[in-house]
Amino acid sequence: MKLKTKLTLGVGLLFLLIVLMSVIGSVYINKLKSDTEKILTANYNSLEFSKNMLLALDKISTDSVVAVADFQKYNRLQEKNLTEFGEKEATQNLNQHFKNYLQHPAPEKEKLIREDLARIMSLNMKGIERKSDIAIITAENATFWIVSLGTVCFLIAFILLFNLPQTIAEPINQLTFSIRQIAAKNYNERVHFKGSEEFNSLADSFNTMAEKLQEYESSSLSRQLMEKKRIETLVNNMHDAVIGLDENHFIYMINDEALKITNLRKEEIIGKTAHEVAVNNDLMRELLKNIDHPVKEPIKIVRDNKENYFEQDIIPINIVKTGEKETRYIGKVILLRNITPFKELDFAKTNFIATISHELKTPISAIKMGVQLLGNQKFGELNDQQKELLKSINDDGQRLLNITGELLNLSQVETGNIRLTIDKCSPKEMVQAAVKNVEKLAEQKNISIHTEYLSGDDFVHADFDKTVWVINNFLTNAVKHSFQDEKIEIRVEKLDTMIQFNITDTGSGIDEKYHRQIFDRYFQVPGEQQNGTGLGLAISKNFIEKQNGEIGVESTPNQGSTFYFRLPVV
Ligand code: ADP
Repeated sequence: MKLKTKLTLGVGLLFLLIVLMSVIGSVYINKLKSDTEKILTANYNSLEFSKNMLLALDKISTDSVVAVADFQKYNRLQEKNLTEFGEKEATQNLNQHFKNYLQHPAPEKEKLIREDLARIMSLNMKGIERKSDIAIITAENATFWIVSLGTVCFLIAFILLFNLPQTIAEPINQLTFSIRQIAAKNYNERVHFKGSEEFNSLADSFNTMAEKLQEYESSSLSRQLMEKKRIETLVNNMHDAVIGLDENHFIYMINDEALKITNLRKEEIIGKTAHEVAVNNDLMRELLKNIDHPVKEPIKIVRDNKENYFEQDIIPINIVKTGEKETRYIGKVILLRNITPFKELDFAKTNFIATISHELKTPISAIKMGVQLLGNQKFGELNDQQKELLKSINDDGQRLLNITGELLNLSQVETGNIRLTIDKCSPKEMVQAAVKNVEKLAEQKNISIHTEYLSGDDFVHADFDKTVWVINNFLTNAVKHSFQDEKIEIRVEKLDTMIQFNITDTGSGIDEKYHRQIFDRYFQVPGEQQNGTGLGLAISKNFIEKQNGEIGVESTPNQGSTFYFRLPVV
């Protein structure tokens, strides 16, 4: 049944019963009223007339004229108020007996009148009694009907009171619960209402909606799964190793290449953090060491008896959630780019440079020696032009020798063929040796070199010659980039467990964007007069790092530069 019909029936029936009860009540009240009126007009008046006639009869011997008039007056009224069975005969008898009495008054005749009056009174009192019984029955009937209808009304109201709120509230509660389930993506939720048609159709609509949502969810889920599969395949087919970590460093993705180079199996990693895996895996340990500050140095991994080189890249992953402005950090991706082919080419080139520079060194030295011999007076006098030519050949030879020397140094460092003789060295001695080498060069520009040594007599762990070479290179650069009559400062200071050598000039300075690049091979600051090789700083970096030291620069354009390196204190 429809809820609306139910409500209409219940409330309508209640309304009808209340109306019926009011009608029955008023009908019975009217009936009772008319019964009472009947008693009053029909019987009470007759009793009153009879009583007055008795009183008139009592006074007839003393005041006969008034009493007779009164008697006749009430007798006439009585004649008009005949309501009971036998009352008419009794009234006619009374009339006759009174007439007789008036003709011949006698006590026996008065007695007859009194008897007639008594009869009339008795008839009316019985009438009153009968009518009162009828009124009682009417009242009882009224009570019965009103109580019966009242009970039915009460029952209906009671049923409505307990049933209706339940009928409406229960489906609403169930629906609210189910809507919440749907909101929580539980699309299996269905509702089934018993009873009203409206709620049944509401349940049907809800179930259809849930079904459609479920269909949509499963179709978008399968689409997402497809997307995921595609991305996984893509990542798996990459030649670079990819390891995905969430914000708690749990490994949630690793491709085949990464498994191969880490020598791990998928089952060993699933559900583990990178740190747990790192306990038994050297490469993972190495990767995690640099996770917050990735180093540019390639990682060497030996696979199938062949050296492979990987460049490590750490990519933080931040996502923007729909509706949110700020990004949220959700983890990192470790990318190991395979740079072995480039490294192999680099080695080939380095070897080539090493061979060439080595091979060139002997002929160039021979040329230089030949030039010196030619300059000797013993072989004859040279004119000024020839002398100049010889000088320029000598300078060029010296330049060539320097370049081949640098190239050889670099290739030796890179191929690992360099042999360091680490010893306990005095910083002061090293600085003095280097200064001696550049004194002539500095004099040409009238540049003064100031030195400031350590107060104590600390020593460093270093290769004397290589370190002098580095200081020498710094000083040559400083002289090259300083202006006429300027000053170069060398300061040696102690920092914790290191001794730092600072070479400061007040020359052209270097833009900050080149600070990292100037230590790369063959790099020269663009726009400068290019008369070097761009190798000096690269070799210096290699020398210092091989001695467990650090190298760096602080510089401001047009204000000067401070090149420094640190070596471990003894
Ligand atoms: P080069 O043989 O060209 O001097 P380096 O490796 O020694 O090679 O230096 C690399 C570059 O760094 C140079 O081209 C130069 O521009 C810059 N540089 C080095 N030292 C200084 C310095 N003291 N002041 C300004 N620029 C410098």
